[in-house]
Amino acid sequence: MRQGTARRPAKARSASSDAAIPLEKCSNTGSAADFLPQRISLPQLRDASKTCRGCDVYCNATQTVFGEGPSDATIMFVGEQPGDQEDLAGKPFVGPSGAMLNDALEQAHIPRDEVYVTNAVKHFKFEPRGKKRIHSKPNSREIKACRPWLEAEIQVIKPQIIIALGATAAQSLMGSTFRLTQHRGEFIEGTPWAPFVLATMHPSALLRMPDEEMRHKARNDFFHDMKLVARQMSHLKK
Ligand code: SF4
Repeated sequence: MRQGTARRPAKARSASSDAAIPLEKCSNTGSAADFLPQRISLPQLRDASKTCRGCDVYCNATQTVFGEGPSDATIMFVGEQPGDQEDLAGKPFVGPSGAMLNDALEQAHIPRDEVYVTNAVKHFKFEPRGKKRIHSKPNSREIKACRPWLEAEIQVIKPQIIIALGATAAQSLMGSTFRLTQHRGEFIEGTPWAPFVLATMHPSALLRMPDEEMRHKARNDFFHDMKLVARQMSHLKK
């Protein structure tokens, strides 16, 4: 489907609906580019994303979870994909990982309502396990299919700093050879996306760490990275 052709809204499912549909049975066009609006603004992008069938991930998700925040935000956070609670609420970073992000922002004195938060993939991909929906990592085809939404958000917001949360977001922006373990907490300058990009852990990865000592250290590193972002932000304002 190309721009301007008739669109059928992607089917919304509820968390309690029937068993998951096998993804290979879901029709898709192969790219979110087929659903981009003619005019690029946040409200129009958000609206258009509701109809997206660029990959098969929409099939079992409740709804598209588009980014949120002011269109003139200096800082943009990019996560991997919405989680269970985000899928139900239709908002990014409202679950446990959102609470951790809020804590880190608060400690770094970065107002949450001044940052834009979004994900590399806009639908929740999961494996049903009994009544639970367990997070399933999006593959490279799905990340690529969804990237037009992220590119359009960046084009509108023109952030000064992008923080990639987790390896999926980092590789979506910096390429598949980017290693979060080697570059966590470093500012990468002069990228095509923003003057500064910093990659750090995804809060949900911190929450999933089974070892308490490792979790504690990773949490401190994450909070430290947010303070680096705050410092960079203050330099930009001078
Ligand atoms: S995950 Fe992205 S590309 Fe795939 S259907 Fe959802 S919005 Fe479209």
